[in-house]
Amino acid sequence: MKSSVTSCAVALSCDDCGRNLPLDRAVTVCSDCGGLLEYRYDLSKAGNVVDYVASHRASGIWRWRALFPPVADDALTTLGEGDTPLVSGGRLGGRMGLPHLWFKNDALMPTGSFKDRGFSLAISVARTHGLTGGFTYSSGNAGASFAAYAARAGMQATVFVEAAANETKVATISLYGARVYRLHYETSAQIFDTLDRLARAGTYSFVNFINPVRHEAMKTYAYEICERLDWRTPDVMVHPVGTGGGIWGAWKGFQELRALGLIDRVPRMIGVQPAACAPIVDAIVHGRESSVRTGDASQTMAQSMAGDSMIHGGRRVLRAIRESGGAAIGVTETQIADAIVRLAAEGIAAEPSAAAPLAAIASAREQGLVTANDTVVAVVTGSALKQPGVVQQIAPKPLGDVDADAAQWLALLDTPPRSA
Ligand SMILES: *Cc1c(COP(=O)(O)O)cnc(C)c1O
Ligand SMILES: [Zn+2]
Repeated sequence: MKSSVTSCAVALSCDDCGRNLPLDRAVTVCSDCGGLLEYRYDLSKAGNVVDYVASHRASGIWRWRALFPPVADDALTTLGEGDTPLVSGGRLGGRMGLPHLWFKNDALMPTGSFKDRGFSLAISVARTHGLTGGFTYSSGNAGASFAAYAARAGMQATVFVEAAANETKVATISLYGARVYRLHYETSAQIFDTLDRLARAGTYSFVNFINPVRHEAMKTYAYEICERLDWRTPDVMVHPVGTGGGIWGAWKGFQELRALGLIDRVPRMIGVQPAACAPIVDAIVHGRESSVRTGDASQTMAQSMAGDSMIHGGRRVLRAIRESGGAAIGVTETQIADAIVRLAAEGIAAEPSAAAPLAAIASAREQGLVTANDTVVAVVTGSALKQPGVVQQIAPKPLGDVDADAAQWLALLDTPPRSA
């Protein structure tokens, strides 16, 4: 394998039995016990990451390649993901009593969701190991991202998409050339069982956490945000939680920056879920070690963070939230709809799951979980265009019909602007 950047990764170790596996082949779960695998790094090999990043020609997430699993140069698969804008909370932050509010706008990613960080890396690693295909199951965005990067890499993607996924998401996955099947199941146990069998049989999967690579790229949230804030840590980071890959990866990234001496603490990680289907919120409220299936995913428009099976009982997510002193917040459909409108009034169009962090911040502010002094980063994980049905439902209708007639237009332009 030829790689112009030396990775600091040293092993993959099993969450359950602690066994270390070498990095030289494509693996998903532990070959001994079926536990989840996590990449371990020797950060002393990272050297001065900041100097390196500043001087290097790579862009986006690939500026941080030394902190990723090893990738061969000719396997690197990119569409320009990462380095998304960190936009100030503007008037909205002021109105909420949060002058240091920020939006990390991952709606600007190549396929319109933050999933692209993970798939750029996961496809690159899979390709490094010579894989020519694989599968994932998805509520839509993961499937689209997987399909796009697989297309780019000339790999065959197979996507089992949740029956509730909207037509646009399903069609997008097909458009990128993936093989798509609509997934039907009665209980999440059936999904776990199926995924477990496939993993143990050695079938390569891109499902979060069974695949040990995807969340490694979510560390770049932490790198990009802290770099942009001149190596200050935000006090609070808010991310929607489906499988938990996003929040776990971000937390891992902050910990690495702390270990590297670039920041001195880790933010409080706040996970957000739809109140209608909130296994992590439920586990935190009841003090459980792992989550159990609760709620009804069909009762929320926040498709991207509902109905995901909590692989391994969500234990990693619960750990990130608890050890960081964070929280898990459930948000109602009304709160989500309100957040979509308020974000749009700041020029940011988010799909429901991506607006949910703003809704959670509003309620965290009311509960005193965040205060005016806190620097708070809400990740906007996906674009409104991903769920056109919701946009059409929530947005105001056109005010009326008009001809190509200057007098008519003038009369209309004289009317005062709509109030917010
Ligand atoms: C996938 C997704 C989530 C949930 O992310 P996880 O890593 O599964 O927790 C949230 N928002 C959007 C827009 C997504 O696509
Ligand atoms: Zn094991």
